[in-house]
Amino acid sequence: MRPTGKLHLGNLQGALKNWVDLQNDTRNECFYFVADWHALTSDYGAPDQIRDNSMEMVLDWLSAGLDPEQSTLFVQSAIKEHAELYLLLGMITPLAWLERNPTYKEMKEELSSKDLATYGFLGYPVLQAGDIIIYRGQGVPVGVDQLPHIELTREIARRFNFLYGEVFPIPEPLLTEVPKLMGIDGRKMSKSYGNSIYISDGADEVKTKVAAMFTDPRRMRRRDPGNPDICNVYSFHHLYSAEEERARIDRECRAAEIGCTDCKKMLGEKIIAAMAPLHEKRRRLSSRLDDVRQIIIEGNLKASAVARETMEKVRDAMKI
Ligand code: AMP
Repeated sequence: MRPTGKLHLGNLQGALKNWVDLQNDTRNECFYFVADWHALTSDYGAPDQIRDNSMEMVLDWLSAGLDPEQSTLFVQSAIKEHAELYLLLGMITPLAWLERNPTYKEMKEELSSKDLATYGFLGYPVLQAGDIIIYRGQGVPVGVDQLPHIELTREIARRFNFLYGEVFPIPEPLLTEVPKLMGIDGRKMSKSYGNSIYISDGADEVKTKVAAMFTDPRRMRRRDPGNPDICNVYSFHHLYSAEEERARIDRECRAAEIGCTDCKKMLGEKIIAAMAPLHEKRRRLSSRLDDVRQIIIEGNLKASAVARETMEKVRDAMKI
């Protein structure tokens, strides 16, 4: 995850929850990192917040249940081998593979206020491929927006193995049940779009944001029947309300027995209740920042040992 700002419910539902589930399956050995070099691919002009954001993000991870005893939590820029592998993979990656990347085209258009016609922005999927395969990763837990990058990672790993011998396993994407959570305006929830409910939002912020959410656009008046199937607020009830309650909301919305305001009020309360234990844990961790720093130092050491081992194999294979 890139430390470009506070984490939102899309990051939580689309990635972090899955990370915790994977970690809790003892068959897995998990590596999760703060992608601070990746933050520079789009925010190179304003790096002031990257260090603070990195710390805040690790606090969010720990609050959501990542456990440094079970997972390796580290910071990308502390492991210089990522940069070496990135350089070497750059030698074998055809330019056309990067230019046809849909995320590259989409972000260049969406973020037109930033100059993203840089070498770093075009090439970041190569860095990402290195980040994954340097741990000889088998599965990569991501949101659906990342699928083209995982595909590219697979292609690069295959090409490397074809040219120099079998060094890397070919990683699979691991999608979550919520591959794409929408924001309050109905577009994908994203830090860059200003449409996010943040993990750190207090009760009042959550209520205000939920009240502003788009609902079924055809339900103009309270007495009009609604259609939960196309309502973004209802899709959030899938995540935050129990099955019985959802069935009741569905029925009463279709019969115009409840209005959108009622439905949103219920949702706001559910989100606030779901976030309460995270907030509590975060408060406790915030007074122990030295412990959090120590967790990162130890995670860096563990990650570094694996990365060094892989790079020895890579250098041997490439005769460097
Ligand atoms: P980013 O902040 O873009 O680096 O995203 C970090 C992780 O959160 C990635 O695995 C994304 O796929 C995931 N993610 C970001 N936004 C959403 C969203 N709206 N819905 C689901 N997953 C998301």
